[in-house]
Amino acid sequence: MMSKGITTTLLHADRSGNIEHGAVHKPMHTAVAYRYGDVNDLVAVFQGTQSGYSYSRQGTPTTAALEHKITLLERGRGTVSFGSGMAAQAALFSTLLRAGDHLVSSQFIFGNTNSLLGTLQDLGVQVTMVDATDAANIAAAVQENTRMVFVETIANPGTQVADLAGIGRLCRERGLLYVVDNTVSTPYLFNPADVGAGLVMNSLSKYICGHGNALGGALTDVGGFDWSDYPNIAEVYRKGDPANWGLMQLRKKGLRDMGGSLASETAHRIAVGAETLALRMERACHNALTVAQFLEGHPSVARVHYPGVASHPQHARATELFGVRDASGGHAARYGALMSVELQPGLDCLAFLNALEIVILSTHLGDSRTLALPAAHTIYYEMGPQKRAQMGIADSLVRLSVGIEDTDDLLTDLAQGLARLTR
Ligand SMILES: *Cc1c(COP(=O)(O)O)cnc(C)c1O
Repeated sequence: MMSKGITTTLLHADRSGNIEHGAVHKPMHTAVAYRYGDVNDLVAVFQGTQSGYSYSRQGTPTTAALEHKITLLERGRGTVSFGSGMAAQAALFSTLLRAGDHLVSSQFIFGNTNSLLGTLQDLGVQVTMVDATDAANIAAAVQENTRMVFVETIANPGTQVADLAGIGRLCRERGLLYVVDNTVSTPYLFNPADVGAGLVMNSLSKYICGHGNALGGALTDVGGFDWSDYPNIAEVYRKGDPANWGLMQLRKKGLRDMGGSLASETAHRIAVGAETLALRMERACHNALTVAQFLEGHPSVARVHYPGVASHPQHARATELFGVRDASGGHAARYGALMSVELQPGLDCLAFLNALEIVILSTHLGDSRTLALPAAHTIYYEMGPQKRAQMGIADSLVRLSVGIEDTDDLLTDLAQGLARLTR
C-alpha cells in the first residue's frame, strides 16, 4: 500500500484488514482477555505458532492497527507499540542488551534518554557517548563487546544531525545493531530504513499524535539487521524466520514482562492524530524555517540552531537527507520544527520567555502549538554543567518547538518578546 502517498496510506490503512461492521477506522477494543472456542487455538497463540490476542498487556486489535500504520510509515517489517517513548526505549535497551555488553550512543540525545543510559550503566551495560555527527567517532568507540549503536536523527535540543548514512555503513560492515530515534524528523521527513537501520524508535507523543493529548512510543524493525547472529535473543525465540526474532523478544520481554503497554483508547487517539501528520509537518516546517530566519537576522539573537539555516554545521547533510519526495522523483528539503536559540550575552532568556504571549512556556515538543522552555534550567538541569557542556547546551539555550499557528502571529510574538529585553 505504501506506493500511495503517506496521507492516503494512513487514512485507508485500517481497511486493509477486516474492520468490524464496516467501520471506516479500527474501533477501540478495551477487553483485557480474549476467549477461544477451542483450547488448542489458545495454546497455539501462547506458543507463538498462531497469531492472535491473549492478554491486552501484549497488544489489542486497536494497538495492532496503530502498529500497522507505523510499520507503513517507516516502511518496516513490523512494529511494537508502548505506553510512551521512554517505555519503548527502556524495553529496547533492557531486553536486547545484557550486563557486560557495550553500547555506543550519540552524545547529543534527549535528556531523559541520557538518564536512562545512566540506569543501564548501573545495571552493568557499558556505554560510550560520542559526537555522532561523524561516523569516524562511532568507529573509534566500537569494542569487541559492542552490540548496539544508538543515535537521534535531529538531536533534541541542539539539532545536531547525526552522520546517519555513514553510521549505517559502519554498522553493516561490523554487524552492529543500528537503532535510530526518528522522533524529531518523523517518518514524514526521513526513513532510517534508507540508511540501513535495524530498529527505529518513535515517540508517538510528539508529531505523530501531534496534539499533545496522548503518550505513546513504538519500535519498528526496518530490516537492516540480521538477527540470526545476535547473541542476546533468548533460545525460545530462536525459531522460525530470524527476521521476526528481534520484535518477538521486544513484544514478549518488553511488553509482557515489563508491562509498559499502550492502551487502546490512547492508540486510537494517536491514530486519529497521525492522519494529519503530513499536513501538520508541512505547516510546522514552514513556520520553523521562517522563524529561524527571522531570529537569525535579529540583533538580540546570538545563535540559532536549526538544520534549515545555512550556518548550521550539518545544513548540507540535512538538505540531502530530510524532505519529501514528489511524484516525479524530485526531493524538496524540509528541516523539522525543532530549534534552539541563544540570546546575545547579557540578555536574560527567562525574561524573554516571560514576555511571550502566544508561545506557551512548557516542556514537550511536536504539539500543534508553539512551545518554549529554557533547556539548561529544566530538562538538562539534573545532569550539571559539565555534562551540559559536552552535550552542547548553553546556559541561555531556549528550545522552541514550532507549531502550526499562523506564521505572522508567531513572528509578531517573538519580535515583541525580544523588543522588551534590555541589557
Ligand atoms: C520525547 C522524546 C522521547 C521520549 O518520548 P516520550 O513519549 O515522551 O516518553 C525520546 N526521544 C526523543 C528525541 C524525544 O523527543
